[in-house]
Amino acid sequence: MKNKTLHNASLKNNCPTCYGADGLELNFTQAEKESPFFRKPAATIEHTLYCHTCKNQIFPVNWTEDIERVFDYNKKIAEANKQYLKVKPLFYLTVVTAIILVAAVVYFLIPTV
Ligand SMILES: [Zn+2]
Repeated sequence: MKNKTLHNASLKNNCPTCYGADGLELNFTQAEKESPFFRKPAATIEHTLYCHTCKNQIFPVNWTEDIERVFDYNKKIAEANKQYLKVKPLFYLTVVTAIILVAAVVYFLIPTV
């Protein structure tokens, strides 16, 4: 599992902990499971609000109404960037190879008239 960043925003809001106005950063990530055949992102988007001024993660219980409003706005952008299942070329290659193999087997098994 690795996390992929969907959207990142610097907020102009005041930090609820240190009241600094230029340290808040909102980050939306989506966990992703990778196999040789596909990349499968998690259904849910994770989010963190971090203050670079006081080096704290700000949890939703401490959010102000203003932060919640900005969060909702940015969440929509993150949702738009949401990743969906991606099949890799190896998957197609395997499917095509399997089809060719089946076709070859059928071809050799059926006696020619
Ligand atoms: Zn702070």
